[in-house]
Amino acid sequence: MFRSLHMKLVMILVLLITSLMTVVGAFLMTSVTNFYIDSFYEQMNEAFSDASFYSALQTEAAQEDGAQRLQSLLELYSGTLGIDSRSRNYYILDAGTGEFLAGSDEAAGATLEQTANILAARNGAVGAESDIAASYMDVAVPVSGGDNHFIIYIRDDRAAVSDLNSELLIIILQALLVGLLVSILLSFLLAKTMIDPIEKLTEGAERIAGGDFDEVLEVDSTDEIGILTTTFNDMASVLHDTLDAVENERSKLDALFLHMTDGVVAYDGDQRLMHCNPAAVALLDRAPEDCVYAEIFEPICPFAHVLSMRRGDYAEAELTVGDRSVELYFAAFADDEAGGVLIVLHDITEHRKTEERRREFVANVSHELRTPLTNIRSYAETIRDADGDIPRETENGFLDIVISETDRMTHIVQDLLTLSRLDSGRTEMVMARFSFGDAIDAVLRSIALEAQRHGHELTSDCPEHLPLIMGDRGRIEQVMLNVLSNAVKYTPDGGHIRVTAGDAGDTVWMEVADDGIGIPEKDRGRIFERFYRVDKARSRESGGTGLGLSIATEIVQRHNGSLSLVDREGPGTTVRLELPVMQSEGQEALL
Ligand code: ADP
Repeated sequence: MFRSLHMKLVMILVLLITSLMTVVGAFLMTSVTNFYIDSFYEQMNEAFSDASFYSALQTEAAQEDGAQRLQSLLELYSGTLGIDSRSRNYYILDAGTGEFLAGSDEAAGATLEQTANILAARNGAVGAESDIAASYMDVAVPVSGGDNHFIIYIRDDRAAVSDLNSELLIIILQALLVGLLVSILLSFLLAKTMIDPIEKLTEGAERIAGGDFDEVLEVDSTDEIGILTTTFNDMASVLHDTLDAVENERSKLDALFLHMTDGVVAYDGDQRLMHCNPAAVALLDRAPEDCVYAEIFEPICPFAHVLSMRRGDYAEAELTVGDRSVELYFAAFADDEAGGVLIVLHDITEHRKTEERRREFVANVSHELRTPLTNIRSYAETIRDADGDIPRETENGFLDIVISETDRMTHIVQDLLTLSRLDSGRTEMVMARFSFGDAIDAVLRSIALEAQRHGHELTSDCPEHLPLIMGDRGRIEQVMLNVLSNAVKYTPDGGHIRVTAGDAGDTVWMEVADDGIGIPEKDRGRIFERFYRVDKARSRESGGTGLGLSIATEIVQRHNGSLSLVDREGPGTTVRLELPVMQSEGQEALL
């Protein structure tokens, strides 16, 4: 009941009614008093202007007992003069002294004060001046008859008007009371029609402030409050949509920051960390709370310098964290306050490694080609300088070396071309279903003579029915042959080479184990790299280019298989080839 707006309404209505009643009361009471005074003087004027009455007064006054005669006459005219002997009385006074002679109220007459009107009448004039401030009204009329001089004095003590005013006051107070009751009832009605919807709106606004957009406010009317409620609902719906959109964007950004491979770190103007995504944590190799700008970035790019950069400008730098190389981009961003610094971290370790590998590769190619070229040149020069002085046999020997070096170069260039085609995806694989076992048999047959030449014992232990697989048979046989010929090459004469194979449902495998020179632990991880050879001289001697296993690896990867070294005890090496039986349709298309 005493809710603030309701209370205000009650107060307004009470004040309104009280002030209204006060004004109306004051106006009424003044009007009644004025009316009463006016009608008194009008009545007196009328009575005493009546010539017959006045001459009767004069006639009576001329008698010896004039005062008694006048009294009798006035008694007769008491109706006309409104004499009621209670509030209005008449008095007959001596005109010379103003002394009371007779009257309707003898007790009051004896103590009668000499008013301004009496004094005027004693001076021979009619005293009919009204005095609004006085508590009475009076008229004093001089009447002379013969030698007798009297004053007829009519006096009204305004009791009637006072009574009337008291009555009026009671009525006004009663009306005020009723008005107050009505105002309280009205305030309830107003509360129902005005305050309740406003309170509902307030509750709705509070709900929305608390993030609850589910409930729509009911629109009960078409007045201003109804329009306000509709507008409020519209506003809530727009706000909801906007918040949803903002939330959506925020979660997109969060997901982006969370999953992007580049690191992002942001600092506010006071170098306080604002944001640090998981990639940045991984790249900097420290927890977010340890990502202090002054410690990590200040020596590379001072904070003040970044802050002073213009919009769109950025600074680049590089940072080494452990064995990783990280490229840094610094930029300033502006926010409501002082702005801040944003750093993007990009891992360039692989990029650097690739560059390094490419440099190595070019150096290797140059080196590999220069060696046979130098040999060819020196033997050709020797033959030319000898000018036919060397024996025919020696010359032929030299020419054989020139031919073999040329073959070697051709071999290298061919291998490089094959690799380049595989790298660029220009090598077409002729896909077909073929027997994995048959391919192994064919390769074993083609290497058998070479193995025999080196006195190796070549054995195979393959199940009879190996599954058919999907692939380019020629390329797969090339891989098998490369692995087997390595085993022949890197096993001292009279060694043992054993080929085993099998299948594991959706994959087939082949292992080539020899008891040759083996591969030292430190080189095992690198023999699949281009031009990598454990013993360069030995490899060159046996016609190796250091590209065979690289080419084999590329082919196997194109078939979604793997080529690896098997960790095992004892001397020698075991190489394992594993291939899937089926190729997925997408993969087949790619092959
Ligand atoms: P290469 O043409 O020199 O044989 P590969 O790429 O086929 O080149 O082999 C790379 C290197 O791996 C070889 O130079 C050799 O040092 C080593 N290697 C490969 N197979 C064997 C093996 N069965 N036993 C010992 N070393 C091997």
